[in-house]
Amino acid sequence: MSRTRTLSLLGATGSIGVQTLDVVIAHPDEFRLGWLTVNTRFDLLEEQLHRLSKHGFTPHGVALADEKAYHEFRRITSFAGEILCGDEGVCAAAAAPDNDILLSALVGFSGVLPNYAAIQQGTPIALANKETLVSAGVVIMPEAKKHGVEIIAVDSEHSAILQCLAGEFMNEVEKLILTASGGPFREWTLEQLENVTPAQALKHPNWSMGSKITIDSATLMNKGFEVIEAYWLFGVRADKIEVVVHPQSIIHSMVQFCDGSVKAQLGLPDMKIPIAYALSLPHRYPSNFKRMDICALQNLSFFPPDVVRFPCLRLAFDSLAQGGTAACIVNAANEIAVASFLQSTIGFLDIPRLIETCLEKITHIDTPSLEDIVQTDKKTRRLAESLVREGMSTPTVFLPKTNGATIVAGNSSIA
Ligand code: NAD
Ligand code: MG
Repeated sequence: MSRTRTLSLLGATGSIGVQTLDVVIAHPDEFRLGWLTVNTRFDLLEEQLHRLSKHGFTPHGVALADEKAYHEFRRITSFAGEILCGDEGVCAAAAAPDNDILLSALVGFSGVLPNYAAIQQGTPIALANKETLVSAGVVIMPEAKKHGVEIIAVDSEHSAILQCLAGEFMNEVEKLILTASGGPFREWTLEQLENVTPAQALKHPNWSMGSKITIDSATLMNKGFEVIEAYWLFGVRADKIEVVVHPQSIIHSMVQFCDGSVKAQLGLPDMKIPIAYALSLPHRYPSNFKRMDICALQNLSFFPPDVVRFPCLRLAFDSLAQGGTAACIVNAANEIAVASFLQSTIGFLDIPRLIETCLEKITHIDTPSLEDIVQTDKKTRRLAESLVREGMSTPTVFLPKTNGATIVAGNSSIA
């Protein structure tokens, strides 16, 4: 399987970025490093470059999105390669002509333009940044098809589905079954959910991840986003994608076929496994990751998700049914809502309320261009930010209270 490829990594200092570098270091004959990009963590980037150099890796260049971090980095670094600045720098790194593969681990909408740039260049993308497909799948996927660019799943659920689909025929797939841990508040009542604190929400029971995805996991928005991600990655209709809560996070997802057979992929919750698979497929790298003790798996449980207590999941399904820019609006409103929740300016259940209000108020576009998506993202952020400001001065006035009795799964909205 030796085929030294140039890998560039967007979001090198994040949870996925750090684990990707571990995978690369463990397979020195497989990769050269092209570009590393970060937002603000110039100090960690410098440490990473030292560590990489000890293992014989010298990236071609780095890009820092944040201008202040760029200047700080230039001041402290001994790195001799190219150093780029700003969103343009990140896009240039993503679109470098000698990239053989890009691992995209930016968080949020910040991934859309760099991923688009890589597609224009014809570079395959191992995609962790699901928000790119949520916001812009409607533009990204046709563009990837046009340029013959492969988008490879990194997310553990989608990696599981990819593995279950190996050697199968898509027309024999009956449904995709995405598993969800249910997050830390799986058994909490609506009343308890009103009072969740950021510290409580940041404690995920099974996975250690960046703060934004950890909050998305607690609201189940992450699972909603993963439904949208699965829709774009596998071309399966929304009504053939099911979510089941599986608190142990051992089965990472399943595929049911037309003969009634179900294939599942199992493993300990360790993102290095799907990261490595995205980089090695159709082969697998040998690894010394901890092995699962099958006989210790006594109680694997499964049950349907509760969209009354977790309305974000319903909002994601609704936006997928609506198509066009609906999911872009949900994503942008969610990014502002999560950041505001983390700053304690809104409550946990204000997150879906804020998203619902933005979905109602922002003009929807059925067949958007990339520019329409960029503008919709901006407009939604502005509206969400002003709603948060108003809500802070007149608490709970601007958003409809989520009343359990009025929310129904499927296409309905809060009455
Ligand atoms: P993180 O917050 O830990 O890291 C994000 C990275 O993106 C950092 O390197 C940061 O510097 C960079 N970044 C942030 N904002 C940026 C901006 N505006 N411009 C340029 N760079 C920016 O996030 P994470 O947990 O590693 O998640 C990354 C992506 O992978 C997300 O889309 C997430 O949903 C997805 N994902 C993560 C996990 C996980 O286990 N962490 C699992 C599955 C999917
Ligand atoms: Mg996932």
